[in-house]
Amino acid sequence: MTEDRDNKKPEQPSSEPGRRRFLKTALASATTAGAASVPVLGLSGAASAASTTRTKGMPTRELGNTGVKVPILHLGTAQRMDPKYDKVMHRCYKEGVTWIDTALSYGWGSSHRAIANFLTQIGDRKRLWLTSKSGSSRVSGLRNGLDEALDELGTDYLDLFLMHGIDDLDMLDREYLTLGEKLKAQGKTRFFGFSCHDGNVVELMNRAAKVGGIDAIMFRYNFRRYGDLELNRAIDACHRAGIGLIAMKTQGSVPRDLESVAGFRSENFTLGQAKLKSVWADERIDSIVSEMDSVQYVRENVAAARSEKPLTAEESHQLNQLAALTAGYACNGCKHLCEKTVTRDVAIAESLRYLMYFECFGKTDRARELYRAIPVAKREASADELQQACQVCPQGIDIPARLSRARELLA
Ligand code: SF4
Repeated sequence: MTEDRDNKKPEQPSSEPGRRRFLKTALASATTAGAASVPVLGLSGAASAASTTRTKGMPTRELGNTGVKVPILHLGTAQRMDPKYDKVMHRCYKEGVTWIDTALSYGWGSSHRAIANFLTQIGDRKRLWLTSKSGSSRVSGLRNGLDEALDELGTDYLDLFLMHGIDDLDMLDREYLTLGEKLKAQGKTRFFGFSCHDGNVVELMNRAAKVGGIDAIMFRYNFRRYGDLELNRAIDACHRAGIGLIAMKTQGSVPRDLESVAGFRSENFTLGQAKLKSVWADERIDSIVSEMDSVQYVRENVAAARSEKPLTAEESHQLNQLAALTAGYACNGCKHLCEKTVTRDVAIAESLRYLMYFECFGKTDRARELYRAIPVAKREASADELQQACQVCPQGIDIPARLSRARELLA
């Protein structure tokens, strides 16, 4: 990772070519299909060429207007890490993936300690970019969370501190932004922002672009979302405001047997690599966080990051087809749509997320543990109400059937 603090990214005019090309493609396809939620993929790798620095190692991009160049790929550590010698972290570091993303809750609370040990082993804190997060919704809880993270990580500063998985617009009020400014002034974190999983991501991003004080946002973004015009406009607003954008959940996974029906074929990339390439083709995205839980995945993802080959039109077309064919199994997390139709508090999106962990990633224990933490009353609703929820689901998910599957596998 190289730093270039004096070389700030200039403000992007609203007619900036990458954005225009992206929206033009999305608009054209949405118009043809008659629905904004139809997945669209039309960017070529050329769109990202101007903003990506390619050296022999890992390509880098500037994170928003922070003045810091970061690797376009970094390691997510929600999985359990080896506390003694974690092969994945060491391999990442060797390959130039010098950014590790963690959180107080990751690895059942053990992630920080494993990273602390890794830091001791490499003996070079400055070469590593460290992000951590606190899930507290209170200013005092966030402040304490950062102190706890520093203590557990054995470091005196973070590079980026995020409010974890927020869905409340009030967390972009002045008191939270002031906290971010104070933590930066105290040297406890260099940058401040938030991550978000849920349905109001567009509102959160639009608010963040207006209020200032947010350096980076981590949000769910993958090949299934390119036709979402509201999301695209929110990304544009953040990009123009100089907010660094980090894509998570880039695989947009559904169960493997369904993905294999689409039969992705390419001479250059695996399906997983193609999904990453499609996100990097969007020059507004500065980095992808990827939970690589084996050295094999590190190899595969690093090869995709280093490859200068863009996706071909045919490969992009195949991803579009995959998105269309499997939409009914891919929950976008837009819970403000479906959960609003049910009179009681029901955790539809959360249940479907844990079902995905189980079905797509084989994380059976974690999926069950998380699902069982949802109060039983929030796992069910009447058949009528769930039918109404289906009516508003942009993905056309058979919500009663999928919730029933979640209960069967995870309860
Ligand atoms: S079930 Fe449908 S409406 Fe509900 S969060 Fe998932 S994609 Fe959105």
